[in-house]
Amino acid sequence: MNIVLLAPPAAGKGTMSELLIKKYGFTHISTGDLLRNALSRNDEIAKSLKETMDAGKLVDDETILKLVYDKLSSSDNKGFIFDGFPRTINQAIAFDKMLSDMDNKVDTAIYITVPKEVALKRTTGRITCPSCKRIYNIYFDNLRPKNSNICDECGVELIKRGDDSEEVFEKRYATYLKETEPLVNYYQEKGILKEVENINKEEAFRNITTILENL
Ligand code: AMP
Repeated sequence: MNIVLLAPPAAGKGTMSELLIKKYGFTHISTGDLLRNALSRNDEIAKSLKETMDAGKLVDDETILKLVYDKLSSSDNKGFIFDGFPRTINQAIAFDKMLSDMDNKVDTAIYITVPKEVALKRTTGRITCPSCKRIYNIYFDNLRPKNSNICDECGVELIKRGDDSEEVFEKRYATYLKETEPLVNYYQEKGILKEVENINKEEAFRNITTILENL
């Protein structure tokens, strides 16, 4: 099964992916994570990627499609969650073609929504474990690490992403509205769009599992 998670910044794509993987064992393909891994190479390409990401802009479609293709073709296919991909109509069209060449398709696109002010708090308070990728948030009681700034599970220091400031959030939000929101129509027209509001994590997750189990 191939599931696309479509959402504005900080709507909870990462958290929902984490929960879905735990429950169903999907393979996670997050283009944001793949890009952040590429940044550690520290070469000219990494420098230019970092500039784009820190400015809240989108990385070019060609780079993204290559990352996804490489990851897809090196994983055994038992179901994927695409988190933060596709993010443009061009990417979505190329992705449909890529999957169809592999005798495959997108089964459902889950559109996760959240009020903008909640998304802003989630962004500016977000800290992540560089080792297990677990996401915490300093503004929400149930998401705070037990010991400030240390991962509950790995004991390593949590980090704040360079693109998690309010200024970058506004830019990413504007980019989302312009480039990514049109995908809601794209998948609606294909008849595979499902919408889930994510104010409460448990409720949103329950709604997503109901959707998946009724496909
Ligand atoms: P994310 O972790 O999904 O929020 O992605 C962080 C940043 O990586 C985004 O703000 C973009 O700069 C870049 N990025 C991630 N996925 C894509 C994509 N599918 N297309 C273009 N840029 C992307």
